[in-house]
Amino acid sequence: MTEQHKCAQDISDDFGAGFRDCARHGTVFEDGKWWCKQHSPSSTRARQAASDLRRDEQTHRRHEEWERKQERERRAECFPELVAALQAWLDWNGQQMKLGPIPDRPIEQTRAALAKAENP
Ligand SMILES: [Zn+2]
Repeated sequence: MTEQHKCAQDISDDFGAGFRDCARHGTVFEDGKWWCKQHSPSSTRARQAASDLRRDEQTHRRHEEWERKQERERRAECFPELVAALQAWLDWNGQQMKLGPIPDRPIEQTRAALAKAENP
């Protein structure tokens, strides 16, 4: 007959006032003690590593989301100037037969709006 071991883990009670023994059998021998599968040091480390990884991934996703939001807001700020530059071209296009060469205003306005939109 094989010897039965108790899990070495102490578990805080429901009220946080003390500890009780884990009720499971110790089936894993690590670090000089017997543990149930849930409480073995290797199992605890693996759960912690998985938890850390999920937290890091969540932090990374939140940061990417924040960056996308910043970029959307930056582009939104450029919108009025881009629309004004396009309007200047349309205005010029409507009058080009009368005015002759392309005036400086739409070109400079478009360059400035594009530079702002492309270079944060
Ligand atoms: Zn246990």
